[in-house]
Amino acid sequence: MTLQRFFLLFFAISSLAVFVQAETRPNILFIFTDDHCEQALSAYDATRMATPNLDRIANDGMKFTRCYVTNAICGPSRAVIQTGKYSHLNGFIRNGNTFDGSQQTFPKLLREEGYQTAVIGKWHLKSTPQGFDYFDVLVGQGPYYNPPMLFGGIEAEPTQRQHTGYTTDIIRDKTLSWLKEERDPDKPFMLMFQHKAPHRNWQPGPKYLNWLDDVTIPEPETLFDDYSNRASPASNQTMEIKRHLTPSDLKLVAPTNLDPYQLTTWNKAYHKKNSNYLSRRDTMTEKEVIQWKYQRYVKDYLRCVKSVDDSVGDVLDYLKEEGLEENTLVIYASDQGWYLGEHGWFDKRWMYEESLKTPLLAKWPGVIKAGTTSDLIVSNLDFAETFLDAAGVEVPANMQGESLVPIFKGETPDDWRSSFYYHYYEFPGGHSVARHYGVTDAKHKLIHYYQLGEWELFDLVNDPDELNSVYGDADYAEKQAEMKAELDRLREYYQVGEDPVEEPRPAKGKKKGGKGKKKAA
Ligand code: CA
Repeated sequence: MTLQRFFLLFFAISSLAVFVQAETRPNILFIFTDDHCEQALSAYDATRMATPNLDRIANDGMKFTRCYVTNAICGPSRAVIQTGKYSHLNGFIRNGNTFDGSQQTFPKLLREEGYQTAVIGKWHLKSTPQGFDYFDVLVGQGPYYNPPMLFGGIEAEPTQRQHTGYTTDIIRDKTLSWLKEERDPDKPFMLMFQHKAPHRNWQPGPKYLNWLDDVTIPEPETLFDDYSNRASPASNQTMEIKRHLTPSDLKLVAPTNLDPYQLTTWNKAYHKKNSNYLSRRDTMTEKEVIQWKYQRYVKDYLRCVKSVDDSVGDVLDYLKEEGLEENTLVIYASDQGWYLGEHGWFDKRWMYEESLKTPLLAKWPGVIKAGTTSDLIVSNLDFAETFLDAAGVEVPANMQGESLVPIFKGETPDDWRSSFYYHYYEFPGGHSVARHYGVTDAKHKLIHYYQLGEWELFDLVNDPDELNSVYGDADYAEKQAEMKAELDRLREYYQVGEDPVEEPRPAKGKKKGGKGKKKAA
């Protein structure tokens, strides 16, 4: 071999090695929604609606049946995901806090290792996103129509821009535009595609304003729960379909920020439905009014999910068309679960099953076997670690979760967690849910309302709807002691220390909801 040919061969092999190395690091597409529960995702529960596009992720990948969140409320869940740390360590314990963006986050670590990072859609951490090459995020909570958004990134000063249209569609369009126009083909990407929907107050897009009009959504068995056999907080909240939905929640008044064309479309859809109800309301029983409110509320929620599902389909289609599907880890999750009428409620916050759990779907061709299910206890605490591990980036020892990558590969790590610690802090606050922490091992659950000195213990096997606390029951004395010891162990393990004390925030929405419900009823 001549020297020239040797060098040519050497360079060819070297280039191939670089190419192979670049190709082995997966892209990460993190699809995230706000308040989307398993009851409205047909891969989990098909009784209310079909979500064919979200189901594609489950069919091509893995469905987790026990993904528990550490603190079931919007901002805190996002801060946990950014940091891989519980609220008491990342500092964002309740909505209204401001995220300290200077701390270690997984997007920063990925970016340092050569990933192109972007976040599009709902951010909700108050401070300007850090660690992203590109961001275009809703300002605050963000409205369902015509949202202002903050655009910026490593090379762009943050600029607020106004948009016209339906927010779910706008976030989808921006995500596709980023993939088409901003994505650097020489780098793997980590893209956070984050919807506002289906957060309160569930305003459907123009396409689905009349969808489900002719069907009746099944009622949950606990719609008329009387909150007996539990500690006092269950009956002292302000999140009942019966009493706390406002005229705006129920669409008895139109949104105030629609343009004339949007408003005409909206009124065309709701006017007739509303007059049918309003003309009958005085002759309806209390039960019938609750049933009407339930149908109105749940249908609007499902309509919002329908647009989310469409948007996910469009983005998955694009990955496939562009040949990106094979080397992209796609994760779908919400920030927590939600009550679709269970216990008579809307909203979240509780350690009870519906809000403790979030859907979690993951697809990664060649790594995750299609159509698989995991019942292991996993958490939003594990997401940062999972993204780093998938990218081959070392997981910092101070992160508190575990990578899900071994589970993706079909392994069950020997020392995987068998119990889970939860802590909700926002009281006083929206919907007046008492502060509580607790532990569950998926068979039993112990909850401590520590400001009230009250406890609940549930036998999840015999009482999956959590209607009967057995705390203090002699038959459960041993289990109760065992769960208390486990709670103490976990609080020490996760370095909980003293519970954070802060100035109470006025109960937002209480006045509005309290007065509004009289008009609505
Ligand atoms: Ca949420």
